[in-house]
Order: sequence, then C-alpha cells, then structure tokens
Amino acid sequence: MNTRDCKVIIVGGGLVGSLCALFMTKRGFKTELYEYREDPRVTQFARGRSINLALSNRARKALQKVGIEKKILACGVPMKGRFIHNLNNKNKSLEFDPRTKQCTYSVSRNFLNEQLLEEVENHPNVQLHFNHKLINVDLENGHLTFLQMKTGKTIDVSGDLLIGADGAFSTVRRAIQQVPLFNFSQTYIDHGYIEMSIEPDIGKTIEANYIHIWPRKDFMMIALPNLDNSWTVTLFMSLDKFKELDSSTKVLNFFRRFFPDSVKLLGEKQLVEDFILTKPSPLVSIKCSSFHAGGNTLIIGDAAHAMVPFYGQGMNAGFEDCLLLDSLLESYNNNFPLVLRKFTEIRRDDAHAICDLAMYNYREMRDLVTRPSYLIRKKIDDL
Ligand code: FAD
Repeated sequence: MNTRDCKVIIVGGGLVGSLCALFMTKRGFKTELYEYREDPRVTQFARGRSINLALSNRARKALQKVGIEKKILACGVPMKGRFIHNLNNKNKSLEFDPRTKQCTYSVSRNFLNEQLLEEVENHPNVQLHFNHKLINVDLENGHLTFLQMKTGKTIDVSGDLLIGADGAFSTVRRAIQQVPLFNFSQTYIDHGYIEMSIEPDIGKTIEANYIHIWPRKDFMMIALPNLDNSWTVTLFMSLDKFKELDSSTKVLNFFRRFFPDSVKLLGEKQLVEDFILTKPSPLVSIKCSSFHAGGNTLIIGDAAHAMVPFYGQGMNAGFEDCLLLDSLLESYNNNFPLVLRKFTEIRRDDAHAICDLAMYNYREMRDLVTRPSYLIRKKIDDL
C-alpha cells in the first residue's frame, strides 16, 4: 500500500503517543491521535504523573531521529551523577560515568509533551483529537469507539494500523487480553510516592547537575532539578508508613529525624501542607507476553510495559519503542503484520528485563548505594 493511503490511529497523547505520532507523520502516514484529556497546551491542569523526568540515551536516540533532540536537551538540566545525602551528614557525589562524562537530563514532562504535540501539528497529514476517550475496541474489524467528552456523543474510527499508547491502564491492552495465548501480569508494590518541591531561591543553593538521593534503607527521597532552579522532590515509602503519618507533628518529626537537611529546603509549612494534602500514588509494573494482536494492533510505552520508576526508564523505553517501530516499518516496507510480529519478537525480553531492573533498582537506590561495593556484590549474589 502507498504510505500516503495508510491511516494510523494512535490512542493516547502522552509522551509516547505524541512521539509515535511524530514518527508516523514523518513516514507520510495519515495519522490521527486521540487523547482522553484536554490539550496540555491550552490547560494548566492536564498534569502527568511526575513533574520532571530523567531523559537518557535511549530517548535521545529517538528524539534525534525525529530531529528535536537538541531543542529538548536545551531545555533540560544535565545530571552527571547522584548526590547522596547520608544521615550522618557525610554527603557524597557519585558520577554516573566519570570516564565518558555521560549524563542524563532532567526534563519537564509538560514541556516535553507540549513540544512533541507542537512538532506533530507542523505536519499536514495529522489530526489531533483531545477530549476523546476510547471506550471500545473491535480488534477483528479494526474499529475503535471514542466518547467525545464535551458532547457526550460517540464516534467510530478505523485505520490500517492501531497503536495503543494509552498508558499503564490501557483500554487497547484490555481488548488484546481477550486474545487466546496472551499472558499478562500486573504487580503493585506496597510502596507509593508523593511529590513536593523546593522553591527556586533555595533551590539554587543545592549542588546543581545531580539527582539528589536520601537513601534510608526502607524508603527514600529524591530530587530532580528544574530549569528555574526549583527542584521536584519525590518521597517513596510504604503505603502503611504514609498512613501512619497522619498529623503535622508526626510529619515534621519524621522529616527532622530522617531527612533533617531537607526541612529547610522544603520549608516546614510547605512540606507539611504538601504531605497532608497529597494522597500517595501507587506504583505498578506490567508485563505482557505479546505487544500486538492480529496484523494491525500494537501497544507501546506504559501500555506494553509499565514499570516502577526507580530506573528512570519508563518514558525512555517507550521512546525506544517508537524508534524500533519506525526502523521495522522501514526494513519491512510498511508490511504491518510482519512489522508487528517482529516488534513483539525483538522487544519482549528487553521490556521484561527493564521492568525487572527497575524493580531491583529501588533496593539499589534506597539502600545499596550507601554501602561499600563488596557488600553490594554480596547482596546482588544473595538476591
Ligand atoms: P502515559 O504517560 O500514561 O500517557 C498515556 C496517555 O493516554 C495519557 O495522556 C492518557 O490520558 C491517555 N489515555 C489513557 N486512557 C485513554 C483512553 N481510554 N482514551 C484516550 N486516551 C487515553 N520515566 C523515565 O523515562 N524517566 C523518569 O525519570 C521517570 N520518572 C518517573 C517518576 C514517577 C513518579 C513515575 C510514576 C513515572 C516515571 N517515569 C519515568 C515513567 C514515565 O512517566 C512513563 O513511562 C511514561 O509517562 C509513559 O508514557 P506513555 O505515553 O506510555 O503513558
């Protein structure tokens, strides 16, 4: 089929769906993207799950391929390593790779999403539909039904290639789960997270260009820098422990005991307010035995392999999915059934491995990072 006659439907206009739409339009396909939420460019409230993200080499390669790597990195903050806040005040910095000076970049989720949508919209062969919620998938006939959130009406859409980039609780995946021999696992960990922030005037006193970590064995706090010198701080802890801290006094005592140097940075009043007002979010890891159904439906990003965030690779892996899909379309001349089969074949083991690494890395970040390396070796052997 001529590429200009192919219609690709993408469900989900988050980070991965937007990037995928960019790849597809650049290939010359007619591309339609449907997103449940408002356009993030016109509303301040369309917030994602984290304010900023660590963008690494995986994502950079994909951004480079669509020609926007430099633009995105220019608005990110390079992080050259970890800065560890120990309880004994003996803080230390550990560079990721002192030899090559490789770094990751802290990038605003909203900025990245907006830039991707902006780039997509520069192409004539694309249509973006916000406030459209996928409510039904007819895999056999390649039909999708969307509820238009503003009118309450439904519309039916069909395409030659249907891509589910609709996140960890994907409706497209739910349809694929009915296909015989499709295996799926979903694991919630008993830890959750809340986000807090450090204001720019105090933020500029912190060692810049690092991801800051307060490892406390059973829980941890991290901080990622923003361009304006503010920091986004995330506390990961067991949901039971969050429940225990149900008064301002308990919260403050907890922070003074376990994160004493952070109290001044976060501000007593603000940290208590943020803590009490925020319900901790759960963390889930999802594995699938296949990422496609038939010859025309594919899931990518968190829909295919949501992972706990401790390896900072969820978005990065999702961007890598887009790059892989694009290169397979190129290699197999847009033969969709073959491309989808190859995608699952190539991607499955890697996706499972990165989900496992992400799970392991929680232990590394909250505990093992504080220990001498011989002990780390032993711990890994014991796992
Ligand atoms: P999502 O971001 O979930 O986007 C899915 C989109 O689909 C949403 O816009 C949603 O509204 C839409 N949608 C859902 N259902 C429907 C429907 N029925 N109809 C229409 N649209 C629908 N990753 C990193 O690489 N680096 C990090 O540093 C990092 N840090 C993280 C920190 C935290 C605390 C968390 C929770 C995650 C972190 N991640 C990180 C992971 C990253 O956030 C995800 O992997 C990434 O957002 C996945 O993008 P996605 O587009 O696949 O899914």
